Amino acid sequence: MTEVIVPQASVREAASVREISVRGAASLGDAVAHLVGLRELPAAEPTPIPAWSAPSGVPDLGVVIGQPLARRALEIAIAGRHSLALSGPPGIGKTLILRCGEGLLPPLEEGEAVEVSRIHSVAGLIDRREPVIRRRPFRAPHHTVSTQALVGGGSRVRPGEASLAHRGVLMLDEMLQFRADALDALRQPLESGIVTIARVEGALTLPARFTLLAAFNPCPCGWRGSHRHACRCEDGAARRYASRLSGPLRDRLDLWVAMDEPELRGAPDGAEPSSVVAERVHAAWRLQVERQGLANAELQGALGADGGLSARLGGLLQQRGRRFALSPRRLHRVARVARTIADLAGAPAVRQPDLDEALAYRPERAT
Ligand SMILES: [Zn+2]
Repeated sequence: MTEVIVPQASVREAASVREISVRGAASLGDAVAHLVGLRELPAAEPTPIPAWSAPSGVPDLGVVIGQPLARRALEIAIAGRHSLALSGPPGIGKTLILRCGEGLLPPLEEGEAVEVSRIHSVAGLIDRREPVIRRRPFRAPHHTVSTQALVGGGSRVRPGEASLAHRGVLMLDEMLQFRADALDALRQPLESGIVTIARVEGALTLPARFTLLAAFNPCPCGWRGSHRHACRCEDGAARRYASRLSGPLRDRLDLWVAMDEPELRGAPDGAEPSSVVAERVHAAWRLQVERQGLANAELQGALGADGGLSARLGGLLQQRGRRFALSPRRLHRVARVARTIADLAGAPAVRQPDLDEALAYRPERAT
């Protein structure tokens, strides 16, 4: 398509798409007059992509007390778009830390901005005067959300939270409280970045490539695995509860931190504020865009020497994999997380401490 005629009210939005001529018509008569050559409709000026500004009203990492591992895992997750799970007892700040993620997100690239804006437009969530979104979406649906609202659907198809979070974050607080079929429906987007919606007229595919940030209690009472309090749950109940995090979903998590109550509670410990962490995250993101045009989490297959993993470290990773009984798929994920850790340090290649740090966040270790 090289030219479109749209209703006058949609001109600004349509003209945000580059390399296409957009004309606005106030009535069908005007469109006909243009098409038969009676009265030409003027072509609209391209709508500028707005400047990015940091979101407001988002909690700051500087107020989080302790929890350096969880904080660091969040930084890595946002920088390379890796999925992250925080587990631990209630009231220790899991939700707060994940919420801080919104303040770390880098601006959308121009191509991404148009893509994200289109999805939000279809959902009727766009401001016609500001039709191009520059901030990455951060969606946090409640655990009572229906499967349809989560992945999309309906007789008049509406994008679900998974698609509204495209190129941004889908945060699932109390993840194990979500309906089992809703969690199951997230497997496809987590694996392939799309959702397929079955309809009478045929299947419809929507983009849904998001970073998953999840939090949950490890058992119904929340204290299983803690060094500070005893868990009061019966073994069977705790096992049934944990099994809600099915193997396939667990396999798709990149980073996992089992949090515990800190030894000392007190004032914030002078931790870095979000602005400092965001600077590192944005720089690491630029390195990925320049090197490969996509996020480290989206890399396919094994990371090789050209991706920054030397043969020696590749061999070391294989060795660790045998020792910890990690699947080949898990090793690929560890290598991609290590690549992000190196990018956060501005290092051209993965170093051994990057690999060791990435291994420390593997989900198999947390359980
Ligand atoms: Zn318990």
